[in-house]
Amino acid sequence: VAKRSGRNRFISYIPGMEDHQLKRSLIIKELQNAIENNQLKLHYQPIYKTPNSNAVGSEALLRWEHPSLGHISPLEIITAAEETGHIAVLENWVIRRACLDLAELKILYGENFSIGVNISGAHLTQLNFVDDIKSVLEETKTNAKDIVLELTESVLVSFLERGRNTLQELCNLGFVFAIDDFGTGYSSLAYLSQIPASFVKIDKAFTNNIENDPHTIRFIRDLCQNLNMECLIEGVETQEQAFQLDALGIRYRQGYFYARPAPLSQLT
Ligand code: C2E
Ligand code: MG
Ligand code: MG
Ligand code: MG
Repeated sequence: VAKRSGRNRFISYIPGMEDHQLKRSLIIKELQNAIENNQLKLHYQPIYKTPNSNAVGSEALLRWEHPSLGHISPLEIITAAEETGHIAVLENWVIRRACLDLAELKILYGENFSIGVNISGAHLTQLNFVDDIKSVLEETKTNAKDIVLELTESVLVSFLERGRNTLQELCNLGFVFAIDDFGTGYSSLAYLSQIPASFVKIDKAFTNNIENDPHTIRFIRDLCQNLNMECLIEGVETQEQAFQLDALGIRYRQGYFYARPAPLSQLT
């Protein structure tokens, strides 16, 4: 009987949870609590450099397994945090966790290993962004050159207008920048040369479509070469795609074909 009523409760719970608004308000309500109670985790996805296929770095990706809601996608978490003013607290937690884990990753993969963290535009534009990230680095004894700040093209371009000095300051401190999800924004190519990024991450949509359209990837590759930026491709899922990328000469790779995101304990 207990099991039966438990199951009934469960069943009546689910349709409510499918309601987007209800789920959203629960996420907002419990986010602060989740940060404080260590419910949030980071998974790491290695980044490889061919042809040797050494892992040269990894991207930190936010994970939240909620006791009753189950898996909550990072984009849902980020949106909720942005809307409720928790984005700085959340991403400072991410940066700090990643810096602490980096020491262990360097033991596994070598001294030159770097770590990528995604930064929301709403966080980057906050006045204390630079001071906050500096103090996390000091506290964790991390070198800025080992941290790749991943920002989308549109965030970086709009920041060129409002926060050029901050961007320069972060560069001077040694931080590395990557333009994330490249090719999905609508920015003018003229801005690209002004972004002080070392990496361009080609969005996985292009990898998906590589068989029909290798031309766009080739175009971005040439663009990167002219801009003196390294070209990385996301979302590599098959051997076939990997062969085509060999032919195109795209050396930095990330995707399920190489490795899925996993907790630190599973990266061996
Ligand atoms: P992203 O930065 O572009 O990260 C890559 C996403 O692609 C990750 O999704 C990763 O799990 C997924 N992925 C990797 N390889 C493959 C593949 O071969 N095939 C497919 N289909 N997907 C692949 P995830 O972890 O769900 O994260 C989604 C997005 O959420 C990220 O996209 C990033 O924009 C955002 N995100 C995650 N963590 C954070 C964070 O701490 N801060 C901020 N601001 N955003 C975050
Ligand atoms: Mg990213
Ligand atoms: Mg991306
Ligand atoms: Mg993305």
